[in-house]
Amino acid sequence: MGGPDVSIDPPIAPRTGRGRRQWPLPKQADLDAPLLVVENLRTYFTLSSGTVKAVDGVSFELHDGEALGIAGESGCGKTTTALSLLRLLPANAKVVGGSVKLFGIELATKSENALRRYRWREISVIFQGAMNALNPVRRVGDQVAEPIIERLGVPKAEANRRARELLELVGIARDRAADYPHQLSGGMRQRAMIAMALACDPAIVIGDEPTTALDVMVQAQILELLERLRAQLGLSLILITHDLSVIAETCDRVMVMYAGRVAEEGPVRTVFSAPRHPYTQMLLAAIPNLESDRRLLGTIPGSPPDLRTPPPGCRFHPRCPMAMDVCHEIVPEEVRHADGVRVACHLYPPGGDGTRRPIPILEVTGVDAPGSTAAPAVERAP
Ligand code: SF4
Repeated sequence: MGGPDVSIDPPIAPRTGRGRRQWPLPKQADLDAPLLVVENLRTYFTLSSGTVKAVDGVSFELHDGEALGIAGESGCGKTTTALSLLRLLPANAKVVGGSVKLFGIELATKSENALRRYRWREISVIFQGAMNALNPVRRVGDQVAEPIIERLGVPKAEANRRARELLELVGIARDRAADYPHQLSGGMRQRAMIAMALACDPAIVIGDEPTTALDVMVQAQILELLERLRAQLGLSLILITHDLSVIAETCDRVMVMYAGRVAEEGPVRTVFSAPRHPYTQMLLAAIPNLESDRRLLGTIPGSPPDLRTPPPGCRFHPRCPMAMDVCHEIVPEEVRHADGVRVACHLYPPGGDGTRRPIPILEVTGVDAPGSTAAPAVERAP
């Protein structure tokens, strides 16, 4: 007779290749193609008072293992853009146009039933506010195991073992799987949410303001955890936040949105060290750091527009200190520069090299990457 049968959980291994576990393997030529390609995505909300064009022509790509940060003020369309990928939208919202291709497979035209195969298994979401997202009357381990049972068809006992392994992976002891959400600290609840998002081994995880409700120490721990998991599991990450310093610490690329459209997008270092769009410049100028004089911090006058009746031309023109006549009438074209930065602003016309049109109405000074010692300020030129 041998010893007791000790079953060993299969380790949570990084996906091989590009996470195409369930899907046909791509041709070799496709391997360098982006994992996710979103083109001209449009999502509108229907209200009794009108139609809100919350996402209105958004395009972006996400490469394998990449982290993309989506930034902008509240109501600029960050969350709606990300949740539109899998149509995880309220009943009064609808994706009315555009293309969402995952591994080259078009999702935008898939039926609700067909799309369910991709939710959690290929793209999952860490929602805001773990206490609201977790079920208060169910044990945390059961909640992590649920998508493994329902989406992957794994037997309950095996799913429970897997859930405990996932909790350990995110820094929660296995025996805490029996706890209810109220028995965990805020940071642990957020870790449990991350474990749930990882339950089906997705290729892409969307973090919707995953650290907003946490204090700075716990926020740093959660960001560190996401970084580690991204490297360890080969995840691609879409991080939605209004906090540019979070993107600076965590992401490879940043996409700044304003009023449902992309203002600027590109590598984080390039965009943060030399922001081109006036909105990006002003967002960065509003970030405090230890060295800055808070009296000199920039602010953005006014507020984002009502997207039932957005302003014509550039939607930022009512708040933009550099607005020209053309900005009031014509929507700026998105122009990609040689260094990979894409910007939609009449100061950077098509065919340009990324340098601004010489219209010295206003200069933004002191804008530097988060953490710099420069005191950011927005000044009007003489
Ligand atoms: Fe400002 Fe005009 Fe550029 Fe819009 S297009 S950001 S209004 S300069």
